[in-house]
Amino acid sequence: MTRTTALRERIGSFEITALFDGVIASPFDILTGIEPSDARSIVGSPTDRISMPAYAFLLTFGDKRALIDTGASNTMGPRLGQVVDSLRAHGVNPAEVDYIFLTHLHPDHSNGLVDADGDPLYPNADVFLHKDEAEFWLDREITRDTPQRLHKNIRATERATAPYRTRMHLVTDEEVLPGIAPLLCAGHTPGHCAWLLRSEESTLISWGDLVHAAALQLPRPDVGVIYDVDPTAAARTRAVMFQRIAQQRMMIAGAHLDTPFAYLRAEDGDYRLYSRPSVDSVNH
Ligand SMILES: [Zn+2]
Repeated sequence: MTRTTALRERIGSFEITALFDGVIASPFDILTGIEPSDARSIVGSPTDRISMPAYAFLLTFGDKRALIDTGASNTMGPRLGQVVDSLRAHGVNPAEVDYIFLTHLHPDHSNGLVDADGDPLYPNADVFLHKDEAEFWLDREITRDTPQRLHKNIRATERATAPYRTRMHLVTDEEVLPGIAPLLCAGHTPGHCAWLLRSEESTLISWGDLVHAAALQLPRPDVGVIYDVDPTAAARTRAVMFQRIAQQRMMIAGAHLDTPFAYLRAEDGDYRLYSRPSVDSVNH
């Protein structure tokens, strides 16, 4: 599938554009906390796979350009790796990207830092990453005690970040630029973070992998994926963040949402996604 139409939103002085990277099609048994057959019938999938779009985001503010995440590059098959083309389609050359804000070091988010040869795709970008994420994945020796399922990603993160190590900034919760701050949302990975944009009393949250399958996880925040490093923490974080995002009427930029920009509303103990924050605030 190719999808060159991107959606664009504005939060005060920030313009944010969704950059389509491709579609991840995974068997339903990557989901945890729910039977694959139940998940399939709720999603209404005609196949035995769950399809998840993958988006990165382009931010423009002043004369600066930034990315939130980078897609998968060539590492997850031919259906992914379209971020650079999406970026060019919006008239931005990768060399013009000044900053990259990473939500976490998983292949569909950070492998796109480099091309097939391991060369940096964004030669002039400074990279921002949560300190806990760097500590978990980077400079990690693989020993017999390292869980097997982590080996491939440990190697991938080393490769993707190698050309950027002198321009990598490890962050906690402080603002990194005016109006741009990380928010630790740990569980999926130890340093998984959302990125908050605040401008003119509006807030956008780019929530990374807080949600992989909205149809399943909005009603059941306890449903996770096998890639959650700490599934219990991931579920708790999801529930806490849903409440906060709905209460504060944040605009969401979701890496795996079908419609990448949305608002969350609590209704009768359930959460639903909407294109506007609420009926009564549309004209405010
Ligand atoms: Zn992801």
